Order: sequence, then structure tokens, then C-alpha cells
Amino acid sequence: MEKLEQLYEGKAKKVFKTNDPKLFIVDYKDDATAFNGEKKGQIAGKGAVNNVMSNIIFQLLEQKGVPTHFVEQLSQRETVVKAVKILPLEVIMRNVSAGSFAKRYGVEEGIVFDQPTFEFSYKNDDLGDPLMCESHALALKLATAEQIETIKKYASIVNETLKEFFLDKGLKLIDFKIEFGLFDGEVILADEISPDTCRLWDVKTNEKMDKDRFRRDLGNVEETYQEVLKRVQK
Ligand code: UDP
Repeated sequence: MEKLEQLYEGKAKKVFKTNDPKLFIVDYKDDATAFNGEKKGQIAGKGAVNNVMSNIIFQLLEQKGVPTHFVEQLSQRETVVKAVKILPLEVIMRNVSAGSFAKRYGVEEGIVFDQPTFEFSYKNDDLGDPLMCESHALALKLATAEQIETIKKYASIVNETLKEFFLDKGLKLIDFKIEFGLFDGEVILADEISPDTCRLWDVKTNEKMDKDRFRRDLGNVEETYQEVLKRVQK
């Protein structure tokens, strides 16, 4: 596998071409951003945590019937993935109120929902990733009705699988964001699943064990990322 020129640099990852047009190499960075890029910083060791953790989770999800972009981990920060075209929809599921949900509806964090919620955001930095309903996604042809059904089915499996997985590690899965891509015309799970993209609260103390430590300047950011990886690897 040859790592060729850089194709793209995002906020948290770089993507490189390879000698196989169907494969990319992603290289996870320690850079952290929040509030649509307004807050910038570094979290030492984050790239490696997010890479290794995502790969463990993607392999678990494959076993549960969710196809993913994961191919092979090359190093602590680098992974070979399928060369997908990312659908411009952020898929968010929530089990407990937090973050933008709590803010939008003027409620406290920590309300446990009877049923998980499902929502889309339009993946568009210039617009600040606005909340988007399904009919608007269809109107703008961001995905087909069939692709949206597949996304919903996979997202539910991700939520059920990860709720159980994290609980076993002493972590409550509050909410998460996932992204899907198209590979050979099929919808597959792409991007990452990490403390950058999930809210995880310690089961015993309710301590925040995710990027909210960075967003809200709660301290022990690096240590928390390492602790989450340690638990995930157990
Ligand atoms: N999230 C993400 N990227 C985004 C927006 C949200 O990974 O651009 C994740 C976030 O970490 C949380 C979940 O999606 O686990 C729900 O986020 P929310 O809508 O509450 O927005 P936030 O409070 O992060 O602005």
C-alpha cells in the first residue's frame, strides 16, 4: 500500500490517495475545534485515540451487520479505508438530552428519553451545519429515499450496539454523530466514532468523558481521551 498525495485536510483528519483508486489512507490529527471552528486547540494523543477507538468500533459494527469503510489499521494514527463519497448529512442519535438539544428546547442536560431521537444536520461549514428534516434532504437530493431508509436502519443498530458496548465499559452513551458514504453505490458507515463525535458520561459519577471537556474547558482533556481508549480496549 503506497501513500500518495494528500487529497483533503479536514478539521481532525487528513485524507491521502493510495495506489489503489478504491482505497484512501486517513491520518488522524491532534487538532481540536469546536463551535463550528471558532474554538481551536490541540489535544495531545487525540489522533491516535480516535483512530484506534474508531477501528475497534467499526469492526464490532461490521459483525452486527453495518458495513463500514474500515480496511486496515496501518499505525497508531493511520488507517486504510474504502474510498467513499461522503453524503453531506450528519446523522445524530440521542438517548439523553445534552448539547444543542438542551439549548434548542431550553431543557436541562440528563433527561433520559423513552425512545432514542434521530435527526439530520446538513453538513455544510459555511452554514454552520443546520438541523435539516428528511423532506428537505430529499428536496435537495442529498440522498435518495432508499438511502435514507438504509441510514436509519444502520443508525439504530449503531445506537443499540454502542449503548451496550459502552455500558460494559462503565460509560453511558448520551448521543453521537455518524456519517455515511457511498462505495460502489452502497451506503456504508464512514468518518469516525470517538470521544470527538460521541457524548459519554461515566456510569457512576456522570462525569463527562468526551469532547465537552475541551468545548467547556473542564480540564483533564488528554487524560480523559486516554481513559476512554483504555476502557474501550478492555
Ligand atoms: N457532533 C459532532 N460533530 C458536529 C456536531 C455534533 O460530532 O459537528 C456530535 C457531538 O459530539 C455530540 C452529538 O453529535 O455527541 C450531538 O451534538 P449536538 O447536536 O448536541 O451539538 P453540539 O452540542 O456538539 O454543538
